[in-house]
Amino acid sequence: MACDCYNRVKDLIREKTGDPKASFNGMVVIDKNGARWIPTIEIFYHKKKKDGTFNKNLSKMDLSYEYCPFCGKKLEEDYEEED
Ligand SMILES: [Zn+2]
Repeated sequence: MACDCYNRVKDLIREKTGDPKASFNGMVVIDKNGARWIPTIEIFYHKKKKDGTFNKNLSKMDLSYEYCPFCGKKLEEDYEEED
């Protein structure tokens, strides 16, 4: 990551809550550049049924983002494309 905001804010959250395991939503992504953790936010929505109506229950989905919500820096450097 281009900044240290997540570690800094994670320490603050753990300090304020007293929970040594408090953390952010995120997921591990594995691709040609290796494995890395990326932060995500949780999206809630009603799935659409085939008849066009919506399910009563909420579904959720993780959405990743490219810029740090705390300082605005791009979270990952762009990788050089190799041929
Ligand atoms: Zn940041």
